[in-house]
Formats: sequence, structure tokens, C-alpha cells
Amino acid sequence: MSSFIGHALTGLGVYTSTQPVEKTTQRNLSLRDLLWPAWLVFVALAPDLDYIFRSLHVWSDSMGYVRVTHSFVGCLAFPLLTLPVLSRLKLARETRRLCAVQVVLAGLSHLAMDLLVGVASLSLLWPFTERRFRLPFGILPSGPAFRVDNFYMYRNLLIEVGALVPLYAGIYLARLAKLDGRKRRIGVAALWLCSLAFMGWSFTLAR
Ligand SMILES: [Zn+2]
Repeated sequence: MSSFIGHALTGLGVYTSTQPVEKTTQRNLSLRDLLWPAWLVFVALAPDLDYIFRSLHVWSDSMGYVRVTHSFVGCLAFPLLTLPVLSRLKLARETRRLCAVQVVLAGLSHLAMDLLVGVASLSLLWPFTERRFRLPFGILPSGPAFRVDNFYMYRNLLIEVGALVPLYAGIYLARLAKLDGRKRRIGVAALWLCSLAFMGWSFTLAR
């Protein structure tokens, strides 16, 4: 499982990677503008609410406890609740469509992140089947125990931030058309190489 920092970064990454660039650069952001990315961060984190609410683990005779929030149905619960609210807000059609895509991506990002650790096996198709799925490799580190004396906490957080921040920053830069084409390409390549290097480091970790 990824750490809550990784999930939060990915919620923000979904926002910055899909938001129209000119909108975010031409005017100052207000507090109201921050509510939507904050909601995306919450949606990206929400499946891990089952660490707090243990009743979100459902017992199955064949599979033991199933983390139902870590299924497609579970991770899309908040996005599906958000869609009717979006339809009631006075938004331009393109904005509403963009927000719908962003909130669904934020929800699905949680499963992608946890699977890319390569350790977790998730009942993705619950409640249709409790069968668990796991990737045979990992390119992200697992979420560490948060203790100041835990060396692995610092290492894994370094790898996670090193893999994710340059990845999303590169996507943002790639879409920033007002920057000179050559400079942009070099910047994007450098950021994505940095991200790949940290993913490669993570790939070599024992699982
Ligand atoms: Zn999780």
C-alpha cells in the first residue's frame, strides 16, 4: 500500500495534470479555487478510511476480511456521490465534464497506486467476486510505519516523492505551451528521467 503522502500527491497530480494550464497561470488563486483540489486529495485518500473505520472490512468465508474500499465500487463511491452535486452547480459544460473526469481519476488513482507497490492483493471486483488481484512487480515503495526512528520511513518517502513529484511536474510542464519548445522538451525529459530513476530504485526493493 502507498503512504497517505503518495495518495495525496496523486490527488494533486490528477488536478495539475488535467487542469487547463492557462486558467491556473492567468489569475490569482482564491481560497474557493483550493476547495476542488482539496476534495480530489480527499477522494484519492478516501479508500484508506478503512484503517480508521474497521467496519469497512467485510468478512468472506473464502477470503477472510475483504477491504471493500479497495475495489472499483469502493473507490468510486465518493466520485459517484460527487457527480450529482456537480450537475447542480452552475458550471460551464466543459468545466463540469473536466471535474467529473478529475474526480473519477482521483478515485481510481488509489487502486493504481496501491497495486503499483506490488505487494497488496486487492479484491478489485467486489461485490461480484472476492478474488484478489496483485501486480507481480512494484515500481512504488510501500507505505512505511510513521516513526521518527524508522529508517525505512525516510527512504520510502524519499522514493515516493522522487517518483511522483517529477512525474506530475513533467506532465504539467509538457502542457505549458508558452514555454519555448526545446527548453520544455529538455525540462520534461529531465523530470521524467528523475521519476523513472526513483521507480527503478523502488523496483529493486525486496517484496
Ligand atoms: Zn489503500
